[in-house]
Amino acid sequence: MRKVKALIIPVTPFQQNCTLLWCEATKRAVVIDPGGDLAEIERAIAEADVAVDKIWLTHGHVDHVGAAADLKTRLNVSIEGPHRDDLFLLQEVEETARAFGLSNVCNVTPDRWLEDGDKVEVGELTFDVLHCPGHSPGSVAYFNGDERLAIVGDVLFAGSVGRTDFPGGDSRQLLASITDKLLPLGDDVAIISGHGPTTTIGRERASNPFLQ
Ligand SMILES: [Zn+2]
Ligand SMILES: [Zn+2]
Repeated sequence: MRKVKALIIPVTPFQQNCTLLWCEATKRAVVIDPGGDLAEIERAIAEADVAVDKIWLTHGHVDHVGAAADLKTRLNVSIEGPHRDDLFLLQEVEETARAFGLSNVCNVTPDRWLEDGDKVEVGELTFDVLHCPGHSPGSVAYFNGDERLAIVGDVLFAGSVGRTDFPGGDSRQLLASITDKLLPLGDDVAIISGHGPTTTIGRERASNPFLQ
């Protein structure tokens, strides 16, 4: 039986895939990218009947982090990630939110910045941190080799790749991140992206038009 469970909660007008992920053996959980719609996230936590230990962030964009500071306070948990290179984004979350007409959004100060090669834990599960710049300079992915699962934020999508026209974006760097960090994880690895359906490394390697 799989030790990891994941429940995707689309949040914000951007339908961002906030992910409640937990260790089935211990019922300890993390909330990955709580971008908004706090009530729905809290409802999912209650329905799953898990105890949240941490918030993990994949990168600093408002649709991924907008409710992180609020959720941190309400659950009394720490925020891990992303990489420090997204500091400038996390400091301008409120300003960006105004431009998009989003409310109830706060700037974010992580408790722990993550580097490539770091490890993060939830219950009995350990995830490797992969620094994947390109969509944003501080984007990270979380990978568990035993469970064959990666949470990749906006780096790679089913049939597409992350935008690189935001501040700090770099298309060459993005493709290098995908090619050097994500594709080598293995074709059987399931991918939870920041938007849209789940996919696998194998499917994207074979059919993603941006990777041919
Ligand atoms: Zn993004
Ligand atoms: Zn996004």
